[in-house]
Amino acid sequence: MTFRNISKEALAGSITLGVIFIAGYVFGKKKSSRMSIIKSHCGDDPLMQYVLNHSMREHPVLKELRLRTMEHSWNIMMVACEQSQFMANLAKLIKTKKALEIGVYTGYNTLSMALALPDDGVVVACDITDDYPNIGKPFWKEAGVEKKIDLRIQPALKTLDDLLAAGEAETFDFAFIDADKVNYDNYFEKCLQLLRKGGVIAIDNVLWGGKVVNPSPDDPDTVAIDKLNKKLHRDVRINLSMLTVGDGLTLAIKL
Ligand code: CA
Repeated sequence: MTFRNISKEALAGSITLGVIFIAGYVFGKKKSSRMSIIKSHCGDDPLMQYVLNHSMREHPVLKELRLRTMEHSWNIMMVACEQSQFMANLAKLIKTKKALEIGVYTGYNTLSMALALPDDGVVVACDITDDYPNIGKPFWKEAGVEKKIDLRIQPALKTLDDLLAAGEAETFDFAFIDADKVNYDNYFEKCLQLLRKGGVIAIDNVLWGGKVVNPSPDDPDTVAIDKLNKKLHRDVRINLSMLTVGDGLTLAIKL
């Protein structure tokens, strides 16, 4: 995530349903000063809380990292926990061994994915700073999966090019794109090259707080997301579904 992207997300006030889910889940479990921070962002939604109460099987260290992340000022950037669990289940379903993650933040989803992979699996996790991943690293270690996480701190496009140059095209099973929106199409194209047939690319924030319905030409993030959404709809290289989980999640399955 770029800092610019962070401020865009935060300033736009595009609070995702996923955060509401987390707030409902956490706030419903136990009230504390830490929880009141979450409460201030979101309202209660009994149905979403029910969903979480009846589906989440969060690893105890994942829960610790989620609560630690909720103390962080940019916690709105954390992927919704039920979305993360869904993607981990999907990754297992397609027998993922090699995963890509574009945009790490505190590494909640990185940990979730690493826990889902076999012992010889790897998550290549891309971010431009280790400031936030450093929050998650002790939790990766505590969960015993740090050896499955290959964190690369440099522009993600450079990392994806490095992987392609190393002959790793068509060897990845799963990719999650959740970084600066203006580069979404570039990330998608390189991830598609790195994916094997039948692999899945999951793209976050494809609804962008609803702004994609009427994109302002002065808003490059919304324009970029809308443009990619339109492109993927007619892209014959993939099958796709656009899910309304969180802030919108597109699944692109490589044909
Ligand atoms: Ca996101």
